[in-house]
Amino acid sequence: MPEGHTVHRLASALEAGFGGQRVRTSSPQGRFPEAADIDRWVLAGAEAAGKQLLIAFVPEESVAPGDPVTRWVRVHLGLYGSWTFAGEPGFALAHAIGAPRVRIGERESPVGAPRGGTGAADGYDVHDAATDDWRDLAPRPTTRLRIIGRHGLADLTGPTACEIVDAEGRRAVLERLGPDPLREDADPERFVRRVLASRSAIGVLLMNQDVIAGVGNIYRAEALFRARLDPFVPGKYLTAGMVRGIWEDLVPLMEYGARTGRIVTTEPEHRDVEARIMERSRGTRQNGDEDPGVVAREKSFYVYHRQSLPCRVCGTIIRSAEMAARTVYWCPRCQSVRSRRASWTREHPAEAWALA
Ligand SMILES: [Zn+2]
Repeated sequence: MPEGHTVHRLASALEAGFGGQRVRTSSPQGRFPEAADIDRWVLAGAEAAGKQLLIAFVPEESVAPGDPVTRWVRVHLGLYGSWTFAGEPGFALAHAIGAPRVRIGERESPVGAPRGGTGAADGYDVHDAATDDWRDLAPRPTTRLRIIGRHGLADLTGPTACEIVDAEGRRAVLERLGPDPLREDADPERFVRRVLASRSAIGVLLMNQDVIAGVGNIYRAEALFRARLDPFVPGKYLTAGMVRGIWEDLVPLMEYGARTGRIVTTEPEHRDVEARIMERSRGTRQNGDEDPGVVAREKSFYVYHRQSLPCRVCGTIIRSAEMAARTVYWCPRCQSVRSRRASWTREHPAEAWALA
C-alpha cells in the first residue's frame, strides 16, 4: 500500500498531465459506469488527503473548482490499486517532478519499460511512448477508470474505492481523516489532541488514518525511532511537546518523500555505521536505487526491515512485532521508556510527570 507521499505525487502527476484539459473518461471494466457522467468535462485539479485521492472535474473551463457543479472522483488504491500513465515523452510525471528519468515510489518500472510492470506496490507505473502509440494502447480488462487527455492517458486498476462525490462528499472525506502533514491546511493540534486522549499505543495511533493521515508502516517505524519513543507507549502518557515533535519531524520527512519518491530518514552520520553488513532489502526497492547520487536503500532507514541487525546508533539488535496488523520495528534500547524519560526529564523537568 502506498504511503501518503506517493498519493500526493499522483495528484501532482494528474494535474501536470491533464490539468485544465477537457478529457475523455470511461470505465473499460464497466464497474465505474459513472465515468460517463464526467466524460468530456474539464479536469480542474487533483489533491491528496492521506491515502485518499480527489480529482476535480468541472463541466466548463470557466467554472471554478469551488462551484457546486464540481464533481470529484475519489480514489483509494488500497493494497492492489495502481495507476498506469502513458503518453508523449515527458508526459505528466516529468512536469510534476522535473526528472529526466521518471521512476516513482518503491517498486516501479523505469520509463520505457515494457507494458505489464505491476507498479502495484506503490501505485505507480509509467510508460513514455516515443510517438503517438499511446493512443492505441488497449486498456487492460481490469481498468476501472481511463482518463484520456491531449498528451497522454492514465489507467486506474484495482482500487479499493472509486466513486464520484460532490462538495459535501469531499468535505466528509476530509473531515473524517486526521490531519495530513503534507497538506497546507492541516491542523497539527487535532493530531496532538487525539493522541493525548487515547489509551492506544502511539505505534497504533500513527497508523490510524483518523488520527493522522498519510503515515504508513515505514514512516511510523522511522518517526518513532527518530523520536526515541517506544511504539508500545500509550498516547495518553506522552506530552503535547513530544507529539508535536513527531508531527514537526514528519513534515520535512514526508515532503522529501513527495518531492523525490524516496523515503530517507537517516542522518548522514548514521548511514555508514555497518557498511560491511549486507542488509536485507526485500520489499524496499525505491525510486532511484541505481542512481549513485541518492542515499542507498540499505542506508535509508534506522529500523524499518532491519530486525536482527544492529541499531545504527547504539548497536543493540533491532526488534520487530505485529502491531495494528503490520510489523513494527524498533530499537529496544534507544526507544525504551526509560531512555526517553531520562532525556526528557533533563530537557523538560517541569513536564516529566507526564511520563510517570
Ligand atoms: Zn539503538
